[in-house]
Amino acid sequence: MHDSIQRILLDEATILQRLNTLAAEITDDYRGLDLTVIALLNGSLIFGADLLRRIPLPLQIDGLGISSYEGTESTGQVKFRQTPVAQLQGRHVLLIDDILDTGLTLSTVRDHLVETSGALSVKTCVLLQKDVPRAHWIEADYVGFDIPNEFVVGYGLDYNEKYRNLPYIGILTPEAIAKG
Ligand code: 5GP
Ligand code: MG
Repeated sequence: MHDSIQRILLDEATILQRLNTLAAEITDDYRGLDLTVIALLNGSLIFGADLLRRIPLPLQIDGLGISSYEGTESTGQVKFRQTPVAQLQGRHVLLIDDILDTGLTLSTVRDHLVETSGALSVKTCVLLQKDVPRAHWIEADYVGFDIPNEFVVGYGLDYNEKYRNLPYIGILTPEAIAKG
């Protein structure tokens, strides 16, 4: 798997160090509040696991299955594979995702929760934010790293469901992209 990577953009130590400061910020902001974290799956699985273990608050965790990408391109449609099961009425919600690209996924899910869940607040947290003009207006409340507009894999991010378990974030070789 490692030989499919042309360049490492963020290594594991760099990611985890940033998660320490991000988690401290979130902990300060939500102290004393009833917080439910909703992780968009599968992309934020690894990020969420590492981030949430650094937040010593009595929060609740739920997952939401979502997909908008096929291969290296956004399909322009957000598919809900399941809806949140947790009761969000009267709670503060923090939505977490792996990466903010066009903004379609996060804005769709956020708007859906704001309209239907009865949550007191809905904020967003992404590990990565791509440097692109966003087609769907959304600004994430918490951002791990700003990255250039390149297709990245690892640390939860996939290419056709592969590479999610790489411990770092990197860019695929042209050969690995061609293989699919
Ligand atoms: P958006 O809806 O903001 O366009 O895209 C968000 C979703 O697209 C992310 O949750 C992620 O699954 C996928 N995505 C966007 N950019 C990348 C990328 O560079 N690499 C990978 N693996 N997935 C991406
Ligand atoms: Mg994804």
